[in-house]
Amino acid sequence: MITGNLPENQSLKNKNTGKTKQPVWQTLLAEAIRDPAELLQALQLDPAVLQQRPFNPHHFPLRVPWGFVKKMQPGDWDDPLLQQVLPLAAEQRHHSGFLHDPVQDLHAVHSKGLLQKYQGRALLITTGACAIHCRYCFRQHFPYSDNQASQNEWQNIINTLNADNTINEVILSGGDPLALADRRLEQLCKHITAIPHIRTLRLHTRLPLVLPERIDTHFLRWFTPLAIQKVVVIHANHANELCNKTHTALQHLQQAGCMLLNQSVLLKGVNDSATALITLSQKLATSQVLPYYLHLLDRVQGAAHFEVDEQHALQLMQALRDQLPGYLVPRLVREISGKRSKTPVN
Ligand SMILES: *Cc1c(COP(=O)(O)O)cnc(C)c1O
Ligand code: SF4
Repeated sequence: MITGNLPENQSLKNKNTGKTKQPVWQTLLAEAIRDPAELLQALQLDPAVLQQRPFNPHHFPLRVPWGFVKKMQPGDWDDPLLQQVLPLAAEQRHHSGFLHDPVQDLHAVHSKGLLQKYQGRALLITTGACAIHCRYCFRQHFPYSDNQASQNEWQNIINTLNADNTINEVILSGGDPLALADRRLEQLCKHITAIPHIRTLRLHTRLPLVLPERIDTHFLRWFTPLAIQKVVVIHANHANELCNKTHTALQHLQQAGCMLLNQSVLLKGVNDSATALITLSQKLATSQVLPYYLHLLDRVQGAAHFEVDEQHALQLMQALRDQLPGYLVPRLVREISGKRSKTPVN
């Protein structure tokens, strides 16, 4: 049963004009802020104090929906949500050891759009698009145009999955799989669900947090009846990302049969304190989301200023264990390429 107010729907034909109306979430996505000057103005921040012009890297420009900006504190340069999206000159500094493909995804490409690193689980790059551009993103240099399957190639992927009965879980990733239009996503999910040996469909997405309007009636209508175990892993880094709207979106996902998990990246200036991490876990619990992973930063070129050293990370984990019930303590991990799973840090 679906309760609560759902975002207004969507791609219904307007009776008068016969034109197809765009879903609300797609309009909001199209209206996302792309200009750093506009973002700073909205937050009443004067870029002159930075002694550097706002900069916007061509390969990975600023992108943030207004709804996410509204959760930032005006006048606060250190706002943990702003820190995640504002391009800083520090990104341009070169650091040795910070690479373009830190987790060696390109070595794991099975066929176009399909990665497999771990037993039983295959990961699908559904799209290069995201509703938000996170400055720490390990895929910010990923050559999506070469590794994103076109519609025809999706058929090849389905065939590959069909032929390999060692795969029992398909992970939709990207980019952000929920940035895809319903028509394509529905088709893909239905094809995956039809494969007998695939037991679990997992979505890794930031959309329920940064554009909760995405979880609308139209989506829920086809998604809910899918006869497969559903897992949704949201990527919240800070408690301030959660609000009434995200709560409703998450509630709807849960009512649609999803197990809800969260993974975060440990980020300097965003969540590198015991208070921030404890508050995040507690806030997630109010939306029935369990913390899953806390990742040490993948050493991607441009993100060095976010790195938290391992010693400090271990101290934070001790504080979490001391103050939270065990089920609200995430697992601290790092990704080491070539390993058969994420690697626990302890
Ligand atoms: C992280 C990751 C997974 C999922 O790993 P879990 O430990 O099951 O969450 C699967 N495939 C790839 C390529 C990954 O990077
Ligand atoms: S939503 Fe995920 S994939 Fe997209 S930019 Fe952010 S971290 Fe990267």
